[in-house]
Amino acid sequence: MLDFNMEKVIIVGSGCAGLTAAIYAARANLSPLVLEGPQPGGQLSTTTLVENYPGFPDGIDGPQLIMNMHQQAEKFGARFSYAEVEDFEIAGDRIRIKADDEWLETKALIIASGASAKWLNLEQEEKLIGHGLTSCATCDGAFYRNVPVVVVGGGDSAAEEALFLTRFASKVYLVHRRDKLRASKIMVDRVLANSKIEPLWNKVVVRYVPDEKGEMRAVVLRDTQTHKEEELPVACVFVAIGHDPNTKAFRGKLETDPEGYLLSRRLVESKHPGVFIAGDVSDRVYRQAVTAAGAGCAAAIEAERYLSHSDGH
Ligand code: NAP
Repeated sequence: MLDFNMEKVIIVGSGCAGLTAAIYAARANLSPLVLEGPQPGGQLSTTTLVENYPGFPDGIDGPQLIMNMHQQAEKFGARFSYAEVEDFEIAGDRIRIKADDEWLETKALIIASGASAKWLNLEQEEKLIGHGLTSCATCDGAFYRNVPVVVVGGGDSAAEEALFLTRFASKVYLVHRRDKLRASKIMVDRVLANSKIEPLWNKVVVRYVPDEKGEMRAVVLRDTQTHKEEELPVACVFVAIGHDPNTKAFRGKLETDPEGYLLSRRLVESKHPGVFIAGDVSDRVYRQAVTAAGAGCAAAIEAERYLSHSDGH
């Protein structure tokens, strides 16, 4: 349980952006409190090899990279809580955050709450999550050995999930609503060269078909050109169609775009002095680990400048 007291810096989120902000704020002696939220470590905690984070020529596992950042922040005095943010308000120069039913006050706030996987919004979706429906190949892929699976999506995430799943599944169907992948060229080349992956172009999943025990048995696909429907037997569906920003607690109180991404100026500033924004919660363009880390760094530097100008922390 959290004690009510005045913090210098609270960081919401513990992905790449939040942890980098924590490293910088902790090194500036601000002893930041990191509210880790429902998915500690953020999106990197559910990926496999990260090949494009600078400094790791052989790549580094996402969870390992996150663990390293966490240790680095802790080493300089960052504090961590699993609390999840429920509400937020600003009264004068007071910034208040409600987390796990308690209100905390802070002089500066860095929102780095990231984004969460989108689902297809089909019938029975909620019931089937964990029963042959998932958004995380790293977490669940190994349960589906020598059986056919489906990955839905055409971006880098879908490509990465499909490639990872070839280690386990007998066959990976990549269901994409168009006839061209959105993923980067290197990922497209790898996907198309892998004989275990069969792209199913111009197809959308319109129905999940569970068996009598409530486990995924098949999906019904509709061809977007001919509108013909067919049932495809699969043991698991991996949905990789992008993300929604985690901004529920901030909507209506901070500026957002129509999809809920927080709007920032000068990279990390919100419209409220003392409230800064970093990473995928406001980035719908780059969404990379390294850009999130960069924004986390900038947010912490701005928070420190703000504090030293406001009351000489
Ligand atoms: P994304 O690039 O937004 O791709 C989402 C994919 O899902 C698109 O192909 C989209 O189709 C499809 N889609 C969206 N809504 C759908 C729906 N309702 N039904 C069916 N299909 C739907 O998302 P992402 O793949 O998660 O990638 C996000 C960002 O992270 C990107 O910037 C990506 O480069 C980055 N990323 C990088 C790496 C890496 O570098 N290794 C790995 C993962 C992610 P359309 O193409 O038709 O829009």
